[in-house]
Amino acid sequence: ALMARLDRLLANLGYGSRRDVQALVSTGKVTLDGVAIKDAGLKIAVAADLPLRLKIRGVPVDPPAPLVLIMHKPLGVVCSHREDGERIYDLLPKRWQIRDPALSSVGRLDKDTSGLILITDDGDFLHRVISPKRHVPKVYRATLDRPLAGTEGAAFASGTLMLEGEEKPLLPASLEVLGEREARLTITEGRYHQVRRMFAAVGNHVAALHRERIGGLALPGDLAPGAHRILTAAQAEAVF
Ligand code: URA
Repeated sequence: ALMARLDRLLANLGYGSRRDVQALVSTGKVTLDGVAIKDAGLKIAVAADLPLRLKIRGVPVDPPAPLVLIMHKPLGVVCSHREDGERIYDLLPKRWQIRDPALSSVGRLDKDTSGLILITDDGDFLHRVISPKRHVPKVYRATLDRPLAGTEGAAFASGTLMLEGEEKPLLPASLEVLGEREARLTITEGRYHQVRRMFAAVGNHVAALHRERIGGLALPGDLAPGAHRILTAAQAEAVF
């Protein structure tokens, strides 16, 4: 396993500056296998079992990178790091905002879209999910302002639908009608505001939008809006 100095490791996990961490160590708050660590420079193996073995005030440390989270994004929060207003990152433990490598969302959902968002510090995983070459399907449930006409499914499946202001047609997408103003749409691209613009292109308007699934990974029914879970490597790979 990768070896890291304890003070550096804990600082990168967001527990404070190197000096803050050294103070925790010198006051006996940091334990490895139940024994207080005396030397903040101790070399630690950064393995998956670290949170079982390394504790601060008796509480397991956070998992080291690579970390993949699944969140139920609520309405009204943004995926951007920089925007004003509440961000998805504000719904996570505060120290995670200073983790290094930093966490970022895998693609984005609009402020007024809810549902499944992945958050990771693993750049390789992130790029595999959003890579245009992989065509990972993303499944949305849309509530519409106007009744469906019945022709939308064929238009979305055609591979010729153009979004306003774009030069390349959309790849085929599949529509499942759930009700007069309710539909499930599966897309394999991630263009800006894609689902809203697709319904606009067929003369409708999306009133509410929720992402149910990315590839093989569905939003768990018991994950409340605003809540998140840490995925195991195997769970994260279920996307593909
Ligand atoms: N398409 C949209 O229009 N908005 C989203 O948030 C996601 C897909």
